[in-house]
Amino acid sequence: MTDAPFRVLPALDDDNRFFWTSGADGRLRFLRCQACGYWLHPPAPYCPSCGGRDVAPEPVSGRGQVWSFTINHHPWDGSPEPWNIVLVELDEQPGLRLTSNLVGAADDAIEIGMRVQVAFEERDGIFFPLFEPEAP
Ligand SMILES: [Zn+2]
Repeated sequence: MTDAPFRVLPALDDDNRFFWTSGADGRLRFLRCQACGYWLHPPAPYCPSCGGRDVAPEPVSGRGQVWSFTINHHPWDGSPEPWNIVLVELDEQPGLRLTSNLVGAADDAIEIGMRVQVAFEERDGIFFPLFEPEAP
C-alpha cells in the first residue's frame, strides 16, 4: 500500500496549470489536438501526429490499465518505502500513459493489465492524479 508518500509540489505555469488543477472537478485532463483529436502527454505546443498547433485541455474518462509498474524499496526521499510506481495507459488512446502511484490496493496485488481509475489527492491546491482499482 502506498501510504502518503512525500510529494514535490510542481511549480505552476500557464502551460501546466490545467493539468495540476484539473482534479478540482474530479476529472483528469490532457491536451488534445483540435484538428485530428490526438491526445498529447506530456504537454507540447503542437500535435506530434499532424503538426497542428491548436491544442487544448479536454477531460478523459480517467480509466485505463496498468501498462507497467515497479515497487520501490530504496529510501530516495524519506517516504516510507516500499511504494509503487505505476505507468497507466488511458483508455482514450494507445500510448497515452501517465506515471503515477496506485492507491487502495496492496503492492503485491498490482498486475500488468489491471483495470484502474483516477483518484485525486489534493495538497495546497495541487491535485495529484493517482489511480485506484476500477470500481466494478
Ligand atoms: Zn493533430
